[in-house]
Amino acid sequence: MAATIISSPTVFPLSPFRRRSRYTERIPRISSIRCSSSPSPSMDGHLKRVVVCGGGVIGVCTAYFLAKKGAAVTLVEKASVACAASGKAGGFLALDWCDGGPLSSLARASFHLHRSLAEELNGPESYGYRPLHTLSLTITESQAQKKPSTSRNKNLPSWIDGPARDPRTIGSTETTAQVHPQLFTQTLLSKATENDGVEVVKGKVERVGVEGGRVDSVVLAGGRVINSDLVVLTLGPWSGKFEMLSSLFRVYGLKAHSIILEPKEPAAITPHALSLRYYPAQGGRPMDPEVYPRPTGEVYVCGMSSTVEVPEDPEEIVGDPESIRVLKRVARTVSSHLEEGEAAVKAEQACFLPCTDDDMPVIGEIPGVKGCYVATGHSCWGILNGPATGAAMAELVLDGKSSIVDLSRFSPARFVGLPRV
Ligand SMILES: Cc1cc2nc3c(=O)[nH]c(=O)nc-3n(C[C@H](O)[C@H](O)[C@H](O)COP(=O)(O)OP(=O)(O)OC[C@H]3O[C@@H](n4cnc5c(N)ncnc54)[C@H](O)[C@@H]3O)c2cc1C
Repeated sequence: MAATIISSPTVFPLSPFRRRSRYTERIPRISSIRCSSSPSPSMDGHLKRVVVCGGGVIGVCTAYFLAKKGAAVTLVEKASVACAASGKAGGFLALDWCDGGPLSSLARASFHLHRSLAEELNGPESYGYRPLHTLSLTITESQAQKKPSTSRNKNLPSWIDGPARDPRTIGSTETTAQVHPQLFTQTLLSKATENDGVEVVKGKVERVGVEGGRVDSVVLAGGRVINSDLVVLTLGPWSGKFEMLSSLFRVYGLKAHSIILEPKEPAAITPHALSLRYYPAQGGRPMDPEVYPRPTGEVYVCGMSSTVEVPEDPEEIVGDPESIRVLKRVARTVSSHLEEGEAAVKAEQACFLPCTDDDMPVIGEIPGVKGCYVATGHSCWGILNGPATGAAMAELVLDGKSSIVDLSRFSPARFVGLPRV
């Protein structure tokens, strides 16, 4: 299918519609989640065996917290851990940008969990966790680029030397932060394998075995069967290709692009995330790209989304050349430090946001299949919401109820009886 390049003002995380919280939320700590460090036995006394299918941030966070609660966890991944959106995302985190919507309590709990995890796992060094400032800017690209010295907005950090106007602070180091998403996901998984015995299996999950209305196994391509008491499906945008899920609700992929630049002078780039309203020189609709400097000295730039079919193999996903060209133009218009010759291009890539028809994640037990759970559809906030999804899911799966976040509104049961689009 041909890709239609569209700008996507509503799908990306750096939404300008941020509202302040008017309530005090419960702040989960890792220690309160880990509380059941004793193994989690089933009714007949054996350890609960849980198979988590899909090694993106949602699957890994779920495996991490399940194992901390004492389950015997196997994670099955068909390609490599964090090979898709969970490795190629921006990694931007916001405390209160989902306030006023259905994701509010999940996002707030997860923002705090990220902070606790970073303390526990040495996040600043292991995976680039850091609080940062966030600015919104309007940029109008001109055909003939002005020299930075004549156009620079003096109220901005000096590296933002392009034609930026209307700067607004939309996040502080109290309310916005970042992680390197691939390193975050990999760090969590290596802790879970080293400390809590999570086993990782490479293989494609073909189907879930069900006996008498209850899961009993996971069947991999090639015929291998992994027996299990409980199963969690965390397949990201591939949920839409998995019959057990696609027969109940739709998950589709929105392809989005990103580049990673390595400026010659990384010390010049301050920890400011940028949410842009970008008017291209040739006219047309404005775009909403995002720029995230990382503590490693890299600068990540993303945007340019399109609805296209998700390929079977995550490793086959490549960026559309025109989208990549546009992102490079955005980068050099924002900062002379990011133009060709001043910054090396480390990566040109694309990945798929997992989206649902009602813009809400799907988290809960699958109706009619006892012991089989799903967590998907996190769209543009999966890195932010991974920890709270995983921790809440571990409670739901092992204890029957989540105390961290009320998951009822995310239940897949909401799709039962609805006509399929
Ligand atoms: C450009 C871009 C920027 C983003 N920036 C941010 C951000 O700044 N902050 C934020 O919070 N979120 C961001 N996101 C969103 C975030 O990346 C996603 O919501 C999140 O990564 C989804 O995680 P997931 O685990 O559900 O899916 P995925 O990361 O897609 O993982 C699914 C995994 O399942 C595996 N799999 C699929 N089918 C099978 C099978 N049958 N058997 C075994 N394994 C299987 C796949 O190989 C894959 O590894 C961004 C996304 C994009 C595209």
